[in-house]
Amino acid sequence: MSECLFCGIVEGETPADIVLRTDEVVAFRDISPQSPVHVLVISTSHHANVAEIVAADPTLAGHLLAAAAQVAEAEGLSNGYRIVFNTGADAGQTVFHVHAHVLGGRDLLWPPG
Ligand code: 5GP
Ligand code: ZN
Repeated sequence: MSECLFCGIVEGETPADIVLRTDEVVAFRDISPQSPVHVLVISTSHHANVAEIVAADPTLAGHLLAAAAQVAEAEGLSNGYRIVFNTGADAGQTVFHVHAHVLGGRDLLWPPG
């Protein structure tokens, strides 16, 4: 078994509701959605966070962003969406395998109010 939860999803050891898979990335629905559409996009190779993936493999980081935009379009988020990379403990990162949160389907204006 993979030590990393998201490597486990890439390997098929951990079930997930996968919406997109390529050689470079996998996208799947967040288990605890914060908006009507909440999809996580990860690289198939392990990198801890966005700073590490962009330093190690900028082309792969580009694939991740392109997949996030592709997911948003496929989910019908033509009115707008947010892509978030929580990076490090202060930002609330809990899974240390880089993932883009694709959030949409409701008013996401931020800061609120
Ligand atoms: P972070 O807090 O690291 O930015 O985001 C981790 C995200 O992974 C959270 O939104 C959390 O709900 C999601 N998550 C944690 N465990 C699982 C899981 O086993 N399956 C899925 N699909 N999402 C998970
Ligand atoms: Zn991993």
